[in-house]
Amino acid sequence: MRDLLEAWADIEAVDHHCHPLWRFTRPVTAADLRMLFTEALDGAMARHVPSTAVYRDALRRIAQELDCAPTEEAVLRERKGREPAAHAEALLRRSRTGTMLLDHGFASSETFSIAEHAEAIPVQQREIVRLEVLAERRLGGVRSVDEWFAAVRSSLRQAAEAGAAGVKTIAAYRAGLRLRRHAAGETAADFMRLKERAQRGEPVRLSGAPLVHGLLFEAALECRDQGLPLQVHCGFGDPDEDLAEASPLGLRPLFTDPLYEGLKVVLLHCYPFHREAAYLCAVFEGVHMDLSLTLPIAGLDGGRAMREALGLAPWSKLLYASDASRLPEYFLVAAAVHREALAAAFQELVERRVLTQDEAIDAGSRVLAGNARELYRLSG
Ligand SMILES: [Zn+2]
Repeated sequence: MRDLLEAWADIEAVDHHCHPLWRFTRPVTAADLRMLFTEALDGAMARHVPSTAVYRDALRRIAQELDCAPTEEAVLRERKGREPAAHAEALLRRSRTGTMLLDHGFASSETFSIAEHAEAIPVQQREIVRLEVLAERRLGGVRSVDEWFAAVRSSLRQAAEAGAAGVKTIAAYRAGLRLRRHAAGETAADFMRLKERAQRGEPVRLSGAPLVHGLLFEAALECRDQGLPLQVHCGFGDPDEDLAEASPLGLRPLFTDPLYEGLKVVLLHCYPFHREAAYLCAVFEGVHMDLSLTLPIAGLDGGRAMREALGLAPWSKLLYASDASRLPEYFLVAAAVHREALAAAFQELVERRVLTQDEAIDAGSRVLAGNARELYRLSG
């Protein structure tokens, strides 16, 4: 396993799904550090986080990097004494992230804007457009659901021309992933209700299957036309979503309807449906997957997920991503855990004489960078 890790040491990964960092001026508390390594939103969960494998392992890795004791207090004290930009740069360099495909949809007023992030973080960056946020912004000036769909498609075309690398949907959060076509009348009625809320100046949050799935079907056509990979949040995430409705198997219409021939779909996170995702990668040419978030959040189970994914999915379909956000510590931890899980899985294949050492090195480097470069048509 050590040999594989060393062979990949010089590979600058393409992190094809991550989020922007907090501005460096934001103070970081123990609660922030704990909530970084859990999908819980309830602050009361913070007291349980130290009783998780992921957090203990993360503290150990961060402390090793900062050369301090593996405790929360020591890590916070040590990072506070460092210049924030230099600290972030050092951790990102250690994570060997060469390119970030950034989803700015998961951001707050404390997060760097797109322009600020590009300026502050010395890593190559490309944008991934978050579909639902874009669609909510395009409600003004449209009178019908068809005009709205057309406006969204036109914005996706513009984003592609401006250099966006792909599109991401959080339909799992807003409607679940059991995709189906809804009656035109139902979609139109939901649209009018959403439009009226927007006109009254109320906060607009796109939700419900008729609109969310209708939008997804339209966006998939535009992604197909523009050659933009469509990232789909699958599997676990924060408790806003109904996990029972987040299996990628529900996306079947995108894989079987000839309308979407040529569409590239990337299943994100996947756990605990990583076996279902691996199956879809094995039978549908356009489907890809990652284990972002699964590694490291699933702790001990993350390594098993990697092994199970590689059992069925071709390694030409598996992509590296961290799903990191807010703090550079997450990039560091996710990268280390991910590379180790990848090395353990491929080492097993070498030991069983399924692959030679050189083939395993090549396959792993594809997962870390090559597959994403090809899929997102990245240069370099
Ligand atoms: Zn994410």
